[in-house]
Amino acid sequence: MFDTLSDRLTSVLQNLRGKGKLSDADIDATAREIRIALLEADVALPVVREFIKHVKERAKGAEVSEALNPAQQVIKIVNEELVGILGGETRRVNLAKTPPTVIMLAGLQGSGKTTLAGKLATWLKKQGHAPMLVACDLQRPNAVTQLQVVGERAGVTTYAPEPGNGVGDPVDVAKRSIEEARHAQHDVVVVDTAGRLGVDEELMQQAADIRDAVQPDETLFVVDAMIGQDAVTTAEAFRDGVGFTGVVLTKLDGDARGGAALSVRQVTGEPILFASNGEKLEDFDVFHPDRMASRILGMGDMLTLIEQAEQAFDQEKAEQAASKLGTGDMTLEDFLEQMQAVRKMGPIGNLLGMLPGAGQMKDQLSQVDDSQIDRLQAIIRGMTPAERENPKIINASRRQRIANGSGVAVREVNDLVNRFYEARKMMQQMAGKFGFGGGGGSAT
Ligand code: GDP
Repeated sequence: MFDTLSDRLTSVLQNLRGKGKLSDADIDATAREIRIALLEADVALPVVREFIKHVKERAKGAEVSEALNPAQQVIKIVNEELVGILGGETRRVNLAKTPPTVIMLAGLQGSGKTTLAGKLATWLKKQGHAPMLVACDLQRPNAVTQLQVVGERAGVTTYAPEPGNGVGDPVDVAKRSIEEARHAQHDVVVVDTAGRLGVDEELMQQAADIRDAVQPDETLFVVDAMIGQDAVTTAEAFRDGVGFTGVVLTKLDGDARGGAALSVRQVTGEPILFASNGEKLEDFDVFHPDRMASRILGMGDMLTLIEQAEQAFDQEKAEQAASKLGTGDMTLEDFLEQMQAVRKMGPIGNLLGMLPGAGQMKDQLSQVDDSQIDRLQAIIRGMTPAERENPKIINASRRQRIANGSGVAVREVNDLVNRFYEARKMMQQMAGKFGFGGGGGSAT
């Protein structure tokens, strides 16, 4: 799922790379292509409209960033808007103050409710709960047996009407199951309800009656992400007919275009709590909007880099450093700060590896060793402020003291001081070449 959308978005955003500045026309063209990509992925029209509107407004109104280049800024905005339509923060299950917590499942037949009951039970057990499944789908032949089989596989109790008593009353079963859960000390009850192939009144009424009987802490609307635009209409019907507090997307492992998954939260206003991506009990997880967005954007590394660059970027210090670089005034203190800023961005090999065009540098990168940087930092920390300010005063006895203090050989202190002079010389030359010695300038 999302493969085509992912490819499309990646290529649209890649077209922005290398642009020093984005004009309004660039932004409009990009927005247009994103719009087409979303529509082709079957995302509901109102959701697409809202999305594009926000991206455009934010991209046009964005301040020039010192930490990010224009392409990165747009990627960041698109990512944040995607996280937004997927619900923002991860939403956890509401647990009742007084157990049992009641979780009711509703949705069309075949949406994956029964399978989900088993998955939820497995997951809840792992979280330290003692769940019980309740079979309230008493219409479909075998539905009860199917839930019992799933329950057995998950290793949990399934509450079901005695066989041979004819078709029981699902509302009655639901009510009695809560008493049973209290009695047998199950702290979570998962109620599986009947589904139909299409939305119908009777189905809605029965689900609403069960809801009234058990007062669920969560009603989860289970929706097959493969059904495309129908997901949205079905979700609206369930919202109006039964009401729900959260959505579970199933069959995300399928090859549908994924628009349903991207629309249902925005259209219903209810969060997606879980996602299912396979037939096995383990193919299931809590839904994290941010992870899903970066999966859709297919730019995990780039997004990490953007985040880290923003975190590590301290504009004031960077400006100070930039103005010093060209004049040859850089001190060991500045050198230390620069190293710390780079270090904050994560392991240096990874960091450089994420940059576009780093491919050919792989061999050199593998030799960059974070522990070397840490050693350099330790040596500088072993110096007095005066020594950091003016390395010229570091004579033989000072070198010995610094080496002892930072636990390295004198040779390493010598190396560092020499490297520092080399770096300073290189910076001065680069500043001359690129003209960033006078302060300011854009960091890209
Ligand atoms: P119910 O009628 O809503 O209870 O749906 P079921 O739980 O019986 O699921 C219907 C079919 O979908 C079954 O064949 C399941 O194995 C399958 N299914 C459920 N969830 C998933 C999923 O996440 N991925 C895939 N590929 N199949 C699923």
